[in-house]
Amino acid sequence: MKRVVAPFHRIGRMLVSNVYLLDGGPGDRWLIDSGHWSERWQLLAELRATGLRPGELTGLLLTHRHSDHAGNAAYLQREHGLRVLCHRADAAVLDGSAPRGRLGVRGSALERALGAFENAFPARLRVDQALEHGDVVAGLEVHLLAGHTEGSVFFRHEPTGCLLTGDTLLTARPPLTILGAVTPAHDAFSLDTPGAHAALDAFHAAGWRYEHVLAGHGSPMVGDARARVMAALDRQRVSRR
Ligand SMILES: [Zn+2]
Repeated sequence: MKRVVAPFHRIGRMLVSNVYLLDGGPGDRWLIDSGHWSERWQLLAELRATGLRPGELTGLLLTHRHSDHAGNAAYLQREHGLRVLCHRADAAVLDGSAPRGRLGVRGSALERALGAFENAFPARLRVDQALEHGDVVAGLEVHLLAGHTEGSVFFRHEPTGCLLTGDTLLTARPPLTILGAVTPAHDAFSLDTPGAHAALDAFHAAGWRYEHVLAGHGSPMVGDARARVMAALDRQRVSRR
């Protein structure tokens, strides 16, 4: 467990995707995303190492429904009584009341295989609280940036300037997330890539400030993150022309 910017910590040893702990003290301890089910042991071990039992967490916030982020949500809800919150649009897919947009249709052979795996083994659960754009929960503003999934969100923490971006803004290049890079929603793993990119542009155009990016994949970007992200996105736009 490594502190990023208090009260946010990054759970260590998670290789597939990032899990963050917002530790505001007893009664205000939240996980943001839960990792893939294949890394459940690492997640529990890291929590144990901090002296926290999963049942002492206040709740779990999901940036989106994909199984590498929501993969332990049903387990934590069932076994440890955690409340799970995510945007209404992804909640409806998670509980089966809305159709599941499918991946595996674009990208390299590896990317298509990973997309097919997501189609075959999606996260499923009944969310305890569906979030709406503009809600504030655990001191985090909920911003809907649909496109990567139907209900992908940013969580923005105004007091610290932390922005938790899920897979709509990454700090590593998928699917090999050891390569650091500023990357908007990745085409092969997104339902509506142009929509996700447009939502990211609209977020910036609206003037929302942030200092640090805590992405779903890749290392945290600490300090001056907004300017660095904008510069990287501009460079990518120029190189695509
Ligand atoms: Zn995703």
